[in-house]
Parts: sequence; C-alpha cells; structure tokens
Amino acid sequence: MALRMDYKTDVWVDWCPGCGDYGILAGIQTALKELNLKPWEVVVVSGIGCSGKTPHFIYANGVHTLHGRAIPFATGIKLANPHLKVIVSGGDGDLLGIGAGHLVALGRRNLDITILVHDNQVYGLTKGQASPTLPAGVKTKSLPKPNLQDAINPLLLALSSGYSFVARAYALDIKHLSNIIKQAVQHRGAALIDILQPCITYNDVYTKNWYAKRVYKLEEEGWDPVVKDPSEREDKLAAAVRKALEWGERVPVGILYWDKTKESLEDRIMRRIPTYTEKPPAMQAIEVNGKPVVDIEKILKIYSDYVVEVGRR
Ligand code: SF4
Repeated sequence: MALRMDYKTDVWVDWCPGCGDYGILAGIQTALKELNLKPWEVVVVSGIGCSGKTPHFIYANGVHTLHGRAIPFATGIKLANPHLKVIVSGGDGDLLGIGAGHLVALGRRNLDITILVHDNQVYGLTKGQASPTLPAGVKTKSLPKPNLQDAINPLLLALSSGYSFVARAYALDIKHLSNIIKQAVQHRGAALIDILQPCITYNDVYTKNWYAKRVYKLEEEGWDPVVKDPSEREDKLAAAVRKALEWGERVPVGILYWDKTKESLEDRIMRRIPTYTEKPPAMQAIEVNGKPVVDIEKILKIYSDYVVEVGRR
C-alpha cells in the first residue's frame, strides 16, 4: 500500500455531521503532515467515547483502548520506545472522569506525551449526560434539570499536576489548532491541549455561535507563555492560572504555559540508565539463537518458592 502522508484512512468517519471532532481530526492530520513524521513514528491512543474512534481515522499506529485507560497505555508505549511520538485523543468524560487519576500522574511524570482533550461538556456517545467539564447550573438538552455538580477546569488541573505545556484550542479553527498540536508534539515533556469542541447533537448551550462571539487568541494580545529560565517559573505559572480562570464573555485560546526548562521523565531515567534512549526496552532482543534472553524458568521458580513460603506462614 502506498504511503499515505495525508494521514487519512479508508475507514468511514461516522461522527454526526457538523461535530467538532472533524476539526480535531483534521488538526491532527495537518500537524503530522506538516511535521513530516512518518506514520510508523506516531502512535495515537484513545479510550471510549465519540473521540475514541479517532485512531481508526488516522493512518498511523493506533490503539483504541478501555474507558479512562488511554494514558496508561500511552505511558507504556512511550517508555518502551521513547523514539515514538505518542498522542492521546480522549473525551472530557474519559480523561477527566474515570481517567482523571492517570491524567494527574502523567503531569507529575512530565513524560513526553501529547494529550488532546475533546472538550464538549457532555458524554456524547451515551446520549448527552453531563461530563466533568459542564458547569453547575447549566442545562443541556438531554438533562431533565440543570447540572448539580461543579466543573473541572482542565487547564488548572494540568497546571497544578506538572504539565510543562498547557494550551487551549478551538476545534473549528483548524489552522490555529494544528499549529498548537505541532508545538505540543515537538515539546519534550507532558503536553495537554484542552480543545473546545461543539457537540452539535447534545450540547445546545456551548454551540458554534456561542464560541464564535467569545473565543480570542492569546498571542494576538501579546501573551508570552514561555519559561526560558527556571527563575521565571513561579510568575509564569501564576499568570497562566489567572488566565485559565477566564471564561464567560471572553474565552482565551492559545498556549497558556510552556516550560522549556523542566526535565522530562526521559531525562530523569537517562541519569539513572544512560543507555536508555539508545537501547530502550522495545529495541532489546528477547531471544538469541532461539533462546529467550530472560530465564523464565528461574523467574517462575522464584515466584513459586515465594508462594509456598507465604502459604507456610
Ligand atoms: Fe460529535 Fe456529539 Fe455526535 Fe458525538 S454525539 S459524534 S460528540 S456531535
């Protein structure tokens, strides 16, 4: 099969016509193309939800995993082969509900993975229940009464968890979105992009018209998110937190915070294992001349001796 550098597959894209997910898909494909990455250098990982279908539509390695577990899968892939560009594409329910613990853990590790949050404030695949990003008091069309729970702010969560690249984008501004994805993928460390994505079927509050009147670009107002020296970190972080709270009449999009000085997990591992990137787990032999490198018999013996010992106690 010919190499598809447009990153498109033949799989029928079955999102509702007009869904913001189409913009996110185009944003990813454009970014990968412009970065000139080969499909085998990229892995897209998803969980469950409308966004979970994304890897099927991208001509690259892909894994459609369990609900809330895209980040652990992605972490294993990246640690096994740090040369891969790993992107997680997940919904607000998947990443900030059942998967929230994993999202926090990735920030603490600052592992070089890009998280794309398809943020439409509802669980679209299961008919529009309130997701963790729907503010309290808001009633979307599937809810019989206004939402009782407060919303999680994905930007604040990412900033406080340790992500070194934190941004917000709008799904229907594909050029702007793909530029941010490009920078996030090239960034060495954990990157999170909260992508505002209208769900045309179930969210009749945060619609295309709602966003059109409010979204503005940070860079057009002179915002400088970059930490160039660790001494700037505290001030830049505090400014990003204030900006992350802006919501209502004006909704900022762009890169809020970009710490170029923070060590990634890969850097920390390399201090302990200097050959890590040269010989990561995925590139090590598992057998030589038909014999496994690891003596599984020995491991099983240690394990069975341990089980017997525990049984005696
Ligand atoms: Fe998109 Fe909403 Fe349809 Fe899901 S239900 S495909 S999020 S418009």
